[in-house]
Amino acid sequence: MKFGDVKIEAIKGDITKQDDIEAIVNAANAQLQMGGGVAGAIHAAAGKELAEETKSLAPVRVGEAVVSGGHNLPNKYIIHTLGPVYGFNQPEEEFLANCYKNSLLVAEETNIKSIAFPAISTGAFGYPFEAATEIALSTVRDFAKEAKSIQLIRFVLFSEKDFQHYHDRLNSIK
Ligand code: ADP
Repeated sequence: MKFGDVKIEAIKGDITKQDDIEAIVNAANAQLQMGGGVAGAIHAAAGKELAEETKSLAPVRVGEAVVSGGHNLPNKYIIHTLGPVYGFNQPEEEFLANCYKNSLLVAEETNIKSIAFPAISTGAFGYPFEAATEIALSTVRDFAKEAKSIQLIRFVLFSEKDFQHYHDRLNSIK
């Protein structure tokens, strides 16, 4: 889908294997350390220098985003954001929207042209997938209208079912 000059797309895949993307987003923990899920995969692929670098950037608050280098990943940058724990960090809609908004703001400050997001908070943090998808897509769409440096926003979904859901919703948003 095209919103203004920005292309928004969804693919099924692994966030650590996005060779053509300048910055990937990490669904991080507050301490910006390894953990499980997306954060575990990103730290494993980036190497231990990432944890060294992010030590000085931590802790981050819910909804906040910070940028680091990509280290051994194919990406120049990693943008780390802390999603809300569903049912705990409230209002969770606002916190989740802030994750997407602040990641995109940091990307623009860094003059990044392409960015890939995982489905933040929908794993260990328990956010229902459908509700999280609506927030992700509407927040990114609204941002795209006023984007400056960003030209491509990609959602990377881990399962076929999650990908299909994004694909369907992406085709219906205006
Ligand atoms: P959170 O703690 O924010 O819930 P998780 O890492 O537990 O984050 O999960 C977020 C989402 O990312 C889930 O939908 C999960 O299926 C997906 N996911 C897990 N590993 C990867 C990966 N390597 N690439 C893309 N998505 C992933």
